[in-house]
Amino acid sequence: MDYNYLADLLYPNIKTLPADIEAKYPKRDLPEGAKVTRFAPSPTGFVHFGGLFPTRVSERLAHQSGGVFYLRIEDTDNKREVKGAVENLLETYKYYKIEFDEGPEGDYGPYRQTERVEIYQTFTKELIRLGKAYPCFCTSDELKEIRERQKELKLNFGYYGEWAKWRGADIETIKQKLNEKIPFVLRFKSDGNANNKIKFNDLIKGDIELTENEFDHVLLKSNGVPTYHLAHVVDDHLMWTTHVVRGEQWLPSLAFHIQLFNAFGYKMPKYLHNAELLKNDPNSNSRKKLSKRDNAASLAFYQKTGYAVDSIVEYIMTLLNSNYEEWRTANPDKPYTDFPFSVKKMSPSGCLFDFDKLNDVSKNTISRMTAEEVYTQTLEWAEIYDVEFADKLKQDREYALKILSIGRGGNKPRKDLTVWSDVKPYISLFYDDYFKIEAEIPNSDDFKTTLEKFIQTFDINDSSEVWFNKIKNVAAEIGYASEMKEYKKAPENYRGHVGDVSMFIRIAVTGKINSPDMYDVMQILGENRVVNRIKEILK
Ligand code: GLU
Repeated sequence: MDYNYLADLLYPNIKTLPADIEAKYPKRDLPEGAKVTRFAPSPTGFVHFGGLFPTRVSERLAHQSGGVFYLRIEDTDNKREVKGAVENLLETYKYYKIEFDEGPEGDYGPYRQTERVEIYQTFTKELIRLGKAYPCFCTSDELKEIRERQKELKLNFGYYGEWAKWRGADIETIKQKLNEKIPFVLRFKSDGNANNKIKFNDLIKGDIELTENEFDHVLLKSNGVPTYHLAHVVDDHLMWTTHVVRGEQWLPSLAFHIQLFNAFGYKMPKYLHNAELLKNDPNSNSRKKLSKRDNAASLAFYQKTGYAVDSIVEYIMTLLNSNYEEWRTANPDKPYTDFPFSVKKMSPSGCLFDFDKLNDVSKNTISRMTAEEVYTQTLEWAEIYDVEFADKLKQDREYALKILSIGRGGNKPRKDLTVWSDVKPYISLFYDDYFKIEAEIPNSDDFKTTLEKFIQTFDINDSSEVWFNKIKNVAAEIGYASEMKEYKKAPENYRGHVGDVSMFIRIAVTGKINSPDMYDVMQILGENRVVNRIKEILK
């Protein structure tokens, strides 16, 4: 068979050669060891939490090594394409601070596969010339029939070996079909044998064994558009990808991809097949894959609840590398990008998603923010999800900042906030129209006497020391221990202790049994409101 003739017969309009195209994709000018990675989504749905993982791995590998991280949109399957998916993708990744150096704009594009169809045809035409690809004119009925027969004979399904009826077709038969305008797909001529195994090193999974591919998979569909297999090989070659991070669902196709790289004679990138996120399943007491329907998977859920973007970024780092948390504790103020991310520390079998852990990480993350950051991000959240609260925050910015400053900074910042929706209940005590007594009011004379005595001497200008001494005095006057230590030594000598007295005051002034530092709270509320709230409860 004259393969050059066949190639021109099938793709007469493709005049360029791979070398012409390669010339437009010169070797990248990068420092030694720099990695080139990509995020290559198919726009077949909206981004979910699990999608942020491999992307972050790619981003870290590239940026940590002074390399390039680019976005490539793999939109060759228009049947599965979801409208708005690309826009959602771009917005979501920007929101979660995953920034691409290239794509959709850049020097190694176009970055949308549907804009690269001629490129794929050029490379496939070369495979035809090399005798490694051929046209197949089977109709879907014929393929169905093959499948039926394979089923009866209990054989592997697919187009391979003796079932690959167009593999050895002569040029006249092919010409005849072309003349009849019968559509064809272009198939790879596999030289693999399913009885053979190949060894492969995956950077996450380690050494793995694969079965050689014996199938003559489709490279170009009948409309001339490539399949993922062909397209990613050509693109990763042209765009100089060094590391491919992708879902482990691609492992079964890996042997075929290896064949394709070899058929073209290209150097393969390194591969990292990433396991899906797992969750604890209380019903079966085991781990299950996180489903797209789980709240944990839905980015809309995180946004609505008000998880800080930084919390999500932190949590992903925690899940990706088991030593991240330790590093964070030692380096509370460093950006996460200073962490030496390592593929070796990734779990080959998948990480466990856990809300308790996420909440813990979130609390720590917000506790490290300035009052200004908390204010701005809460406001951004509230503008969408609680407009009335947003207005309240905007009415007096300085006042809100004062409240949010309580307990910030220092080595042990307060950890009251997990998500932005916590801010309103946390600061409601400072706003008279939100304030309400939530705690149970103690039904005792001691409660009333405490409050009466407290307001008699209360002076907003007191230092915190003087203020607290006055509380201790109240305690002593009503038969409560003014020092915890004394109380512990002989509780039978007292009606209670200074902590109980403080609690009485806290309930009256804040309406809660938990609140930030009472002295700070009173300073912000001011003398009148403190006295009025106490008087109100004494009525
Ligand atoms: N387009 C493929 C997908 O969305 C990407 C796989 C890859 O990264 O190579 O699953």
